[in-house]
Amino acid sequence: MKTTLFALFLLASLSVFSQRPVLAKNVFLITTDGFRWQEVFNGADTALIHNLKFVKDTALMQDLYGASTPELRRQKLMPFFWNVIAKKGQLIGNRNYENKVNVSNFYKISYPGYNEMLTGYPDPKLIPNTPRFNENINILEYLNTQPEYSGKVVAFSSWNIFPYILNKKRNDLEINSGYEAIREEDSTDVYINQVQADIKQKTHCRYDQLTFLSAKEYIETNHPRVVMLGLGETDEFAHQGKYDQYLEQANNVDKMIAELWYYVQTDPFYKDNTSFIITTDHGRGKKPTSWYAHNLFVKGSGDIWQVMLGPGIAPLGEIKTAEQIYLKQTAATIALLLGEKFTSNHSVAKAIHLQSTQPAVTKTVESVTTEAIVLQK
Ligand SMILES: [Zn+2]
Repeated sequence: MKTTLFALFLLASLSVFSQRPVLAKNVFLITTDGFRWQEVFNGADTALIHNLKFVKDTALMQDLYGASTPELRRQKLMPFFWNVIAKKGQLIGNRNYENKVNVSNFYKISYPGYNEMLTGYPDPKLIPNTPRFNENINILEYLNTQPEYSGKVVAFSSWNIFPYILNKKRNDLEINSGYEAIREEDSTDVYINQVQADIKQKTHCRYDQLTFLSAKEYIETNHPRVVMLGLGETDEFAHQGKYDQYLEQANNVDKMIAELWYYVQTDPFYKDNTSFIITTDHGRGKKPTSWYAHNLFVKGSGDIWQVMLGPGIAPLGEIKTAEQIYLKQTAATIALLLGEKFTSNHSVAKAIHLQSTQPAVTKTVESVTTEAIVLQK
């Protein structure tokens, strides 16, 4: 009893009210599965684009995405990244400048990658890419328990394992994954569901375009504050060794992000108060003989990238200084942008140093120090 009272007293005394800057009112996390840093920063790989083993029409691919310099090639492949984000946001992970982003998990496959990204904790336990409910608390469900964001957090994904990664069983998060029908709120939703139902060969990964349309419809109707959009086809085409379709899909992803950004910047609810974090769950092999694969044995599988745009993100463009950032920092970075502190049932890696501009507003957040939580046990 005495101990409990002492612990409670300590708990109360260590609770602190802090002023946290609110850098962005809304945050969108957008991922494209297993997309390499090499294509983000160098554009189409010259060692692959002419290889008939991986590209059906090499002349057409050369016309579409080939050019004499990495700068020209990347601009052709990802025009939104290099025409807009390079001017107004940040692109991190160009290893040509020793600017590195890595996964911290040992396995370098998707479930451990998304777990690391969303929980801030690279769980040392192997979590295979199978439907198993995640024990680790993620940033999305954490925010969804905060009064300010309750019912305003949503995740749309192509891969049908996300309800397990985000542990749908444990929380009230709005999650739509794989070929799951969307809630029909208007005639467009009905049409999307019809198209989805008509697809004959459904795999574990829905067409990204359908995931995107479903998410965009939801966003326009419901105006959520925190959105995860998890796209998957870059990884699918890579595993199939189809470098041409992998490039086409990357180009599509760039277009989807451009469309979403255009929508955000022209909707009064989101305009100038919404930040995008764009990243991937793992890298892939570095060589022409390994680019399509990824796992702990394939060199390069842990090398990734991160792109950010919006309030709170200084417009530094492509970062060309040596630094090391990790995927596990994503969860705390989302919290930092929103002026929140993410606490969980495990340790959480610290946020990326954003080198941000002045915040517009601050808010008071109550936080309990870790020491108090430990004493309570
Ligand atoms: Zn994969």
